[in-house]
Amino acid sequence: MLFTDKKHRFVFLIALVIFFLATLAELFLIRTVLEKNAIRNARSAFIFLEARIGAYLETLRLLPQVPEYLQDLAWLTDELQGQPSLVGVLVKEGNSVLLDTFPEGFFNLPPEVFEKCRQGLMMNEVYFYCGEFESVPNRRLFLLVGIDLSYEHQVFKEAVILTLLIFLTGGVLLGLAFYYVDRLSRRQEELERRLSASEKLAAMGKLSAMIAHEIRNPLNSILMGLQYMAEMGELSPEVLQTIRQEAERLTELTGELLSYTKGFEIHPEPVSVRQLLEELKLKLLPRAQIQNIDFQVETVPDIVLHLDRRWVLRALENVIRNAFEAIGKDGHVWLRVEERPQEVVFLIEDDGPGIPQKDQEHLFEPFFTTKDSGFGLGLYLVRKVVEAHGGRVEVDSRKGRTVFRLVFPKPHI
Ligand code: ADP
Repeated sequence: MLFTDKKHRFVFLIALVIFFLATLAELFLIRTVLEKNAIRNARSAFIFLEARIGAYLETLRLLPQVPEYLQDLAWLTDELQGQPSLVGVLVKEGNSVLLDTFPEGFFNLPPEVFEKCRQGLMMNEVYFYCGEFESVPNRRLFLLVGIDLSYEHQVFKEAVILTLLIFLTGGVLLGLAFYYVDRLSRRQEELERRLSASEKLAAMGKLSAMIAHEIRNPLNSILMGLQYMAEMGELSPEVLQTIRQEAERLTELTGELLSYTKGFEIHPEPVSVRQLLEELKLKLLPRAQIQNIDFQVETVPDIVLHLDRRWVLRALENVIRNAFEAIGKDGHVWLRVEERPQEVVFLIEDDGPGIPQKDQEHLFEPFFTTKDSGFGLGLYLVRKVVEAHGGRVEVDSRKGRTVFRLVFPKPHI
């Protein structure tokens, strides 16, 4: 597709249509000018001939004796040959023909010519014009002139070819101009999006650092205080254990928040893929049941990968939860593992509504979300986790079928 932006496509089409109409208007104008020119030529030839022949006949009338050869108007033929655009002249009085210079003779002229020539008639590259002699009132003389239009036709044909060439070149240039405008505006949008995302990330980074600082330090003090109380026998070891676990979880959480923005530090260890899947199944099955989703986890031959177990679990969980949320109620989600020679792929497939094409390229950008209460950090985290392991994320989506592939490299033995 030449233009990604619908608005640009629409404006380009409008511009092209306007250009095309202007081209047609130009051709129409050229044709009208040429036609008017032919009509003017025919009328002025008519007026000239009428005056010339009328004056001659009037002279003959005044002469006492006129020799036979002078009464024949044929001598005018030579004079008329000096006018190259004149195809022929016919002078009639009643049924007798006084002059006929048409190449084929007036008997070969189609009857239509005589029916319509008074208004002017365009026929086979000839313009016919006729009328009665007004300059010889006592006689009913009829004059017909034919003007050659082949030059005008040739000029018009050349104008059509030239105009078409101009239209094609103009169309291509217009297309190119719009293509570059479209590309530039796409790039600008992309830059603006990245800028705003990185601004948000920077703000979040600061916030996270603040939270980490503000929470961790008091937490340490609390832990130390608790330790002291336990040693003094004021706190049972069980209660201390519970409080410590919760406090550690909080510390861990602040750490996670920091890594969203600061980048990952992963600590890979050998992880059994089968166990990973079992854990996910246990954790997410209750959620699936609430939403009446058939969550199927494939049993796989045991593969051991070098992964940061905690982060990879989080990433897989994010993708599966997204699938659940996309489905809403009643549907299927499949979690499978595919072993390739160099890689191991986690496939998460769902039969939810699918992801619109225009959203697919932004899925992994931070803060991209279509949900009212979403943060748009889930898939961003997924990509970061997978890439930190040297892998990649792929997505295929159409209506009713979405597949996310988290591809991890196999450890080198
Ligand atoms: P959040 O869940 O906060 O919106 P995510 O980064 O996890 O952020 O997801 C980004 C967007 O990707 C979601 O808002 C949703 O529109 C889309 N998405 C992700 N997974 C799916 C899926 N399986 N089906 C349809 N849309 C999805």
